[in-house]
Amino acid sequence: MGDSMSDASLIYFDNNATTKTDPAVVKAMMPYLTEEYGNPSSAYRFGKRAAEAVERARGQVAHLLGCEAKEILFTSCGTESNNAAISSALTMDPDRQHVVTTRVEHSAITKHGEWLAKRGYEVTWLGVDEKGQIDLGELERAIRPDTAIVSMMWANNETGVLFPVEEIAAIVHKKRVLFHTDAVQAVGKVPINLAHAHSHINFLSVSGHKLHCPKGVGVLYVNRRTRFNPYLMGGGQEHGKRAGTENVPYCVGLGEAAELAARHMELEDAAVRGLRDEFERQVLETIADTQVNGDRENRLPNTTSIAFEGIDSEAVLLLLDQAGVCCSAGSACTTGSVHPSHVLKAMGFSTERARSSLRFSFSRYNTAGEVEKGLEILRGVISKLRRMSMVA
Ligand code: PLP
Repeated sequence: MGDSMSDASLIYFDNNATTKTDPAVVKAMMPYLTEEYGNPSSAYRFGKRAAEAVERARGQVAHLLGCEAKEILFTSCGTESNNAAISSALTMDPDRQHVVTTRVEHSAITKHGEWLAKRGYEVTWLGVDEKGQIDLGELERAIRPDTAIVSMMWANNETGVLFPVEEIAAIVHKKRVLFHTDAVQAVGKVPINLAHAHSHINFLSVSGHKLHCPKGVGVLYVNRRTRFNPYLMGGGQEHGKRAGTENVPYCVGLGEAAELAARHMELEDAAVRGLRDEFERQVLETIADTQVNGDRENRLPNTTSIAFEGIDSEAVLLLLDQAGVCCSAGSACTTGSVHPSHVLKAMGFSTERARSSLRFSFSRYNTAGEVEKGLEILRGVISKLRRMSMVA
């Protein structure tokens, strides 16, 4: 099919890597990419209109998360939000130099943790069981008087496994330690209500491009009672919490994407879950020696990670790509590397199983027809590779 493959023939089952931009999001952004180019900090009305657009977007994101608009801080991406939360906690109190996180976080946390560990900070990496779940007792024991922050993802990008985040936050809060959650894969897919009386989440990260907004915009929720040290220093934008002229069109886009997500979440949950479940059922029933990785009960509705015994996932990806099907062998950041998924390894799976696993992630833009077509192509690819390995 080659590079000339038209969009219409593309089967995109990699929505945890990024998502198709919603036309309504682009439409909302357009005026701010063209004639409404004012600087939100300017004193005249032309600038004020841009500032009002950013504030409207802040309100839309706050509505999706069930928090107050003033708790929303626009950033450039999920990675920045994660880095900023941890950095704030560590610079707030020099006597607290210890961080607790897990072995299954995205590289936007793990690389930062490794960097900190090389610079004299102490990082405790909590393991997970075969389902991808952590042990809450172990978490409680890991928190020390010098712990600055605990950071744990809401939903795993590779397996979709959901951590019991509110329960975790309550444990951390009891120990008087800050709690951050990387909710990049959870926002828009599962209900989040930060106003909930029992919510003890101090920081939460969002990324626009995982919810049908273009790449390059994110949010950090900072609880109104949580002190915050800015990561970027300069102008007084974002109430002094993040310097740099606001990316007005992208803030507006994320606001619109958040509003759409809030409006469609229930309906989408059922529809997308239905596609994922049907895909998974057919893979398990019609392709021999296949197994789902991770907790199937506590999982995102759109994600499945499947091991195809004896198969090299890189080879499958290549053949699926030639047939116009996009999926992933892990997180996008590790694709192309020969290392097996750190998430599957942390779950105790062998290198072979990790290397034979593929992630399929769906969205509201996928159809039942694509699921059928994708399955047909996948079955062909797997049986071809298995035939080849028998001959070899
Ligand atoms: N955290 C998780 C769980 C992710 O899946 C990703 C992206 O794949 C990120 C953070 C990074 O987000 P961004 O691409 O906006 O920096």
